[in-house]
This record gives sequence, structure tokens and C-alpha cells, in this order.
Amino acid sequence: MPVRIVSEWTRPVGRAPRPVGGPLPWEIAHHGVVGNIEESKPRLYLAEKVVDDISRRSREGAIRRREDMGLLLGDWAMDAEDDPYAVAMNLLTGSLDASPVAVKFKMEGLMKVAHDLDDLEYPYVIVGWYHTHLDLGCFLSDKDIKTQEGGFPHTHQVAVVVDPMRKQAAAFANGPEGHGSIWAVMKSYTEWGGVERHE
Ligand SMILES: [Zn+2]
Repeated sequence: MPVRIVSEWTRPVGRAPRPVGGPLPWEIAHHGVVGNIEESKPRLYLAEKVVDDISRRSREGAIRRREDMGLLLGDWAMDAEDDPYAVAMNLLTGSLDASPVAVKFKMEGLMKVAHDLDDLEYPYVIVGWYHTHLDLGCFLSDKDIKTQEGGFPHTHQVAVVVDPMRKQAAAFANGPEGHGSIWAVMKSYTEWGGVERHE
């Protein structure tokens, strides 16, 4: 996914209590990556609205035999123990060039995403991306890892893969072993207090 960064700014990472997390409507798949499902704290919280968007879009895509994708926007923070977590508040997407085994944004789709980003009424952070696999299971392909490396290389950026046909999902974070090498625990949430910023 070619994305050109035209401006960047940095800001300190805030501390904020984690949202209260609930289950997701998918079986959580994990294979071939580092991390223990039982011991790990959630790395990514998806707003219920985002979960609903992904559920609906991924099912519609499965019916049309097309993969789906989108950007996850939100914020990230440290909890009281200095463990980072990301919060996805919105899913943005646009027109796609999609087949049963591949997906990318069309140019006009990327333009729409750029416009939608401008319209977000909070200082968003791109916390990751989502895409679907159709009955292939949830993993990162070599191409997915390249996308993660090129577009989402930071600690707080996660790749979410949903397989609507198997009703499975998984999330992958960046770790010392490489981009997308850490299995990340995901939860849904309904409310989050957010990070207090003094600017
Ligand atoms: Zn993929």
C-alpha cells in the first residue's frame, strides 16, 4: 500500500487507564508467532463500532469473494505499569482493488481515506490496519509483512487479520523478531477515558 508521509509531528505518549475490554465476535486464531495468549495484556482495543464495521464489511466481502481492508485510527497510551496499548476508534476505508486472495486501495480509495482523515475531529494516531483472508486462516503473508514494515512499523501499530469464513481473527504487533512477529491480544470496548494532554 503506497502511502506518502507529507507531514509528521511527534508528541509525548500519555498515560491512561485501559478501557474495560470485552470479547470479540470471532474465535481468536494464533499460530507461528511469539506470545502467550493467557499471560499477555491486550495490545489493541477495538471500539464496538469498529468491531461492527469489520464484521459487516468482512461478511459482505466474503459473499462477493473479495478481501477487504481498512485503516485503524485512534490513540495509544501507557497503562500504570508502562505497558503500551492501542485503541482503535474508527475504521476508514475507500474503494479497493480486491480479489479472493489480495487487496489494495485504489488511488481514489486512498484519496477518500486522506479526506476522511482530515475530517476526524480528534488528534488521531494510525494504530494499524485490518484486512481479511477468505478461508485461508489468520496469518501475515510475506506481502502483509512488507505492508506492515512499510506502513506500520511502530510499536503501537498492529495488523489485524479477520477470516470471515472461518469466523476467526488475529492481531500482530512489531517486535524484536520483526514486523508483525508478536501475537497481540485484542478486545472490544465501549468507553475509554482517553489520554489527558496538557498542551
Ligand atoms: Zn493477508
